[in-house]
Amino acid sequence: MAPAGGPASREAALVAGLEALLAEGRGAVLSPDPVLFPHRYPDPGDAEVAAFVAATFAFGGVLQIRGFLERLFGVLSPSPLAALTAPAPVPRTAVDGLSHRFVSADGVHRFLRVVREGCLEHGTLERLYLDGRGGSPPDLRRDLARFLAWFRARWGSALPRQRDFLFPRPDRGSACKRHNLFLRWVVREADGVDLGLWRAVSPRDLVVPLDTHMARMGEWLGLTRRKTRDWRMAEEITGAFRAVCPEDPVRFDFPLTRIGILRVCTLPRRGNCSRCPVAPLCARRTKREK
Ligand code: SF4
Repeated sequence: MAPAGGPASREAALVAGLEALLAEGRGAVLSPDPVLFPHRYPDPGDAEVAAFVAATFAFGGVLQIRGFLERLFGVLSPSPLAALTAPAPVPRTAVDGLSHRFVSADGVHRFLRVVREGCLEHGTLERLYLDGRGGSPPDLRRDLARFLAWFRARWGSALPRQRDFLFPRPDRGSACKRHNLFLRWVVREADGVDLGLWRAVSPRDLVVPLDTHMARMGEWLGLTRRKTRDWRMAEEITGAFRAVCPEDPVRFDFPLTRIGILRVCTLPRRGNCSRCPVAPLCARRTKREK
């Protein structure tokens, strides 16, 4: 049953459920998460650029993502940063046939070109992000919008649908799942999943990467009442996490979404609910028990 009582007892139940989830180590296995790609590169410069590439293309089915990224990192290895910043850019022929969903090989090549320009002109992607902030106090939505706008501007007017999908607009309401995922990877301290590469952003300011699994969990656990999967829903769910863990609100993202990704939650009628750490809070479970 859902916990009785007011917001305080509900909050305590949320903390207990989320901590149990973390303690169970459901987030311990990286595969099939695309974060395994930046983990392959010990050099921080390689890991940063690999994280940006892997997160940007983290859409579609997990096997499809994995297959595409294996091929793309085959082009960029052994050092993605060196490959992107070499005197000669990655030739178009190197990505022949390398498309992902509706992003064509031309789009992939253009993407590599703008990331190259970012690295060459700013040294690191973190520096590019900070330069966009321009000395103002941190504001994650505004700073991310400026960061992504930089790439859109460099991309130019060709292939506009691919450009706008690869570099979305949080200022226009996009939840920016893939880029909040990138920020989670590079900002949260290294814990076996996240990488802890950046100092430009505090973990306190991160926003949850809102995918299907997180939106569903957010609804079932009563973390959001919004129906539209947008930036405001991401902020609302993050706000619920922030209330119980202000210093690191997105620490629950990886284990919570893994419930869906690893299919712990696909067969609740067969008894998985009884083994699910967030069951006391889950509206879906309550319904099934009634
Ligand atoms: S439906 Fe069951 S398994 Fe899925 S999140 Fe709710 S309690 Fe957990």
